[in-house]
Amino acid sequence: MAKSKYCEICNVLLDPYDTYEYKGMLVCGDCFKARNENPELSNEEVKSKVIEYRKDSTNRTNNFLIVTVPHIEGKKIVKYYNMITSEVIIGTGFLSEVGASISDLFGLTGAYSEKLEQVKNEVYNDIINKAVSLGANAIVSADTEYMKIGTDMILFSITGTPVVVENKVSPEA
Ligand SMILES: [Zn+2]
Repeated sequence: MAKSKYCEICNVLLDPYDTYEYKGMLVCGDCFKARNENPELSNEEVKSKVIEYRKDSTNRTNNFLIVTVPHIEGKKIVKYYNMITSEVIIGTGFLSEVGASISDLFGLTGAYSEKLEQVKNEVYNDIINKAVSLGANAIVSADTEYMKIGTDMILFSITGTPVVVENKVSPEA
């Protein structure tokens, strides 16, 4: 069984598709981004920032409705925006850059489907960010798709119509 590797900043289990090298440390994508954006912070402070960010995005994702149907029961759509798409293509090219071996990182059973789950969350977060920045509070008519490209890449995409919904007020008697 392959040895598990953990982010040297936040200790999350490293995802082979989302591992970076920062000054000799193997770190996760979130920490890598936060590390580069905040060079003045210590690793400890970057870790708190990343954990805060993960909490925020989990809350937002959990409260945001994305549905495949064009309506949301009990809600009234008061505004529509143009359809939006989010997609991500992930590959294994970074592995050679960090000098890691594919079998080392990929040897785990189920890693592939776990990865798909993570990619899905990433794309969900991205489309939610896009919708929220438009002013929407839900997405209707959503459609997801993923496909394998070649032997080592996956494309995952989600398309939907951002809307503003309000709770339906029952007509007065
Ligand atoms: Zn990390």
